[in-house]
Amino acid sequence: MTKSSNKNKPQPTIIPRPSHTVSRDDISPSALKVLYRLHKSGYQAFLVGGGVRDALLGLNPKDFDIGTNASPDEVRALFSNCRLIGRRFRLAHVRFGREIIEVATFRAATDATEKHGDVEHDREGRILRDNVYGSIDDDVWRRDFTCNALYYNIADFSIWDYAGGMKDVEDRRLVMIGDPDTRFREDPVRMLRAVRFSAKLDFRIAKDVESSMLKNRDLLQNVPAARLFDEFMKMFQAGHAEKTFEKLREYKLFGLLFADTDKALDESEGFLKFVRMALANTDRRVAEEKSITPMFLLGVFLWAPIQKQAEKLRAHEKMSHSQSLSLASFDVAGDQQSRISIPRRFTTPMREMIAMQPRFEVNRGKRGLKLLDHKRFRAAYDFMILRAACGEFDPELAEFWTDVQNQNADERLASFSVGNQPSAGKRRRPRRRKKPGASTA
Ligand code: ATP
Ligand code: MG
Repeated sequence: MTKSSNKNKPQPTIIPRPSHTVSRDDISPSALKVLYRLHKSGYQAFLVGGGVRDALLGLNPKDFDIGTNASPDEVRALFSNCRLIGRRFRLAHVRFGREIIEVATFRAATDATEKHGDVEHDREGRILRDNVYGSIDDDVWRRDFTCNALYYNIADFSIWDYAGGMKDVEDRRLVMIGDPDTRFREDPVRMLRAVRFSAKLDFRIAKDVESSMLKNRDLLQNVPAARLFDEFMKMFQAGHAEKTFEKLREYKLFGLLFADTDKALDESEGFLKFVRMALANTDRRVAEEKSITPMFLLGVFLWAPIQKQAEKLRAHEKMSHSQSLSLASFDVAGDQQSRISIPRRFTTPMREMIAMQPRFEVNRGKRGLKLLDHKRFRAAYDFMILRAACGEFDPELAEFWTDVQNQNADERLASFSVGNQPSAGKRRRPRRRKKPGASTA
């Protein structure tokens, strides 16, 4: 990777305001406040990364990153609503209500062979820490892709382009800054970022980046599980989950994140359909600005492995279907933690949602009625509807659960009383499935 020396500093192409489409209207008022305050205090202040890239593409940027030559302590001194975070990368977070503006001090790029101030690499070349500050023309080379290395200058609203990002945005190409092998070795998460950006932005991944990804994909195994949860959220909760999933499978990266799921997807068309449908639904919900929770997709991804494990448990020991699913969820989520650390606030509800599935088969009596009041009913119902759409659950029974939600208390009582179901006559009482091999006779 090129390192700028002081004598031979690369010069940026400066695109003046009239020649580009990033306007202050694209930038959140909070981000503008931070930019102006830094600028008025005599520091350089640039919007950089996704904010500039997305605005150029006519997308609505949601998250704003700022680059400055002020040190983290100097940033903190300027903003009372500011907190310094991170050891790997020391950053300032300036908070405005729920919005957080990330302010990063320009850093110098360093490579794994150099011993340099507060920078640390592991044996594979992975960057463990990077806290050597520099100027903007150092900072640019440590960014991942050219489209992410465009700097919007609040001083005169121009864009500084060192790496040819403007042209690559225009051509919708995802191009790595520097040598892809080295850059993926420094941080294998960049492979997931490549997939995510190409899905979200509809960019073609440059050939050399693509072949480097295929070659280096096992490096993803060195990434700590804690870091992968953040990336999981960005990949699957940001409105482009379905496309990201297809590409992760295409580049054989998905199996490095969800090994058992990947195996099950190869074995079962039905499961693949189920996962795809769930991802499409999630994207639709994001587009409609409806609430989403990662526990739902986690449950979807782990559904086939959980069922398999539940079957094993039932073959060993006598227990209810629901119990076996609950125990299996615990086991499978536990295994998954070693790859992606999923906070317990998500695994617990996931387990409840999964264990509730057999209860949808009982649609009469108090027990059936009580299910409607369960705090996980809505998620479990959505999950059941997906199963029904994939032929894994009786569609008439699914319809029953849809209908009863719109009924008043008296109507519900009637619906759940024996022989008084909307579909009575058409279908018989759902029989509990017997576990294979188990005999009640
Ligand atoms: P989005 O916010 O839409 O996910 P983004 O490009 O803003 O996209 P962030 O994770 O917010 O992504 O990071 C901001 C910028 O920081 C990036 O545009 C890139 O320049 C740089 N960056 C972030 N992560 C890395 C990384 N792992 N390696 C190199 N540069 C990175
Ligand atoms: Mg960002």
